[in-house]
Amino acid sequence: MGVMKDMTSDRAAAFAELVREAGELVEQAARARKRTLALSPEVAALLERVVGSAAAAPPVPERAGLEDVADLETLRGEVAGCRKCGLAESRTQTVFGAGNPHADLVFVGEAPGEHEDLQGVPFVGRAGGFLTDVIEKGLKMTREDVFICNVLKCRPPGNRDPQPNEKEACEPYLVRQLAVIKPKVICALGSHAAKMLLKTEGSVGQLRGKWHFYQGIPVRVTYHPSYIVRSEHEPDRHAADKRKVWDDIKEVIRVLNGEITPRPNSGGPAGGRDLSG
Ligand code: SF4
Repeated sequence: MGVMKDMTSDRAAAFAELVREAGELVEQAARARKRTLALSPEVAALLERVVGSAAAAPPVPERAGLEDVADLETLRGEVAGCRKCGLAESRTQTVFGAGNPHADLVFVGEAPGEHEDLQGVPFVGRAGGFLTDVIEKGLKMTREDVFICNVLKCRPPGNRDPQPNEKEACEPYLVRQLAVIKPKVICALGSHAAKMLLKTEGSVGQLRGKWHFYQGIPVRVTYHPSYIVRSEHEPDRHAADKRKVWDDIKEVIRVLNGEITPRPNSGGPAGGRDLSG
């Protein structure tokens, strides 16, 4: 940033000098009624510096494409009308996902619960409050900076586990969401998200503490917020599990900050027992 600033101020000073020199030349040429300007070697060098530095200036980063936003909205519409599995019968509405269509970080959870089903928004209620804390206090971001979605877009009755046929029917929507968003990091919340993304039967306890990859995108597995809030009546365990989530999020932050580039099986040993079911 400092180098950029120096380059910019240097170029501005050269440009100001060039304008002054050119003005004098024009005045001289006008007084002598000349139709052409002869540049002195000094002014020619100045011109070279200004034009050369303009050519060497770093390109302005491309803004994310509007068509990606449109793709995601088209998909949202498809999901809203989906009846590919039996959950269409019992849902109040689909819960597509929310947040930045160009997010660097995507959280993938399990399925909408009661509050999500009623509001059409992922991760509201107590579990949502915990995730919001993770995003705001841990990542120093907002929910609008990241994208939050689930493996299933409809609520299973009574918040039961997603069934294999439901996950199979709904998976293409998650695949397409991630293909459009192209995040730098995915955080899998709980075993259902981890299993779908990583095609593994490993538990959260086995999978967390190291980097995995989905389509080349680093994936960090951590406990589902619902699991964390359920252990509130066991303060020691609750505190220990929150620390583990924080450890996982710290690794996510390091990738987002460009401090590390994950490689398969890096990031230290998986820690903790699997209490997440
Ligand atoms: S859970 Fe997924 S596949 Fe099943 S009806 Fe809802 S959107 Fe469609």
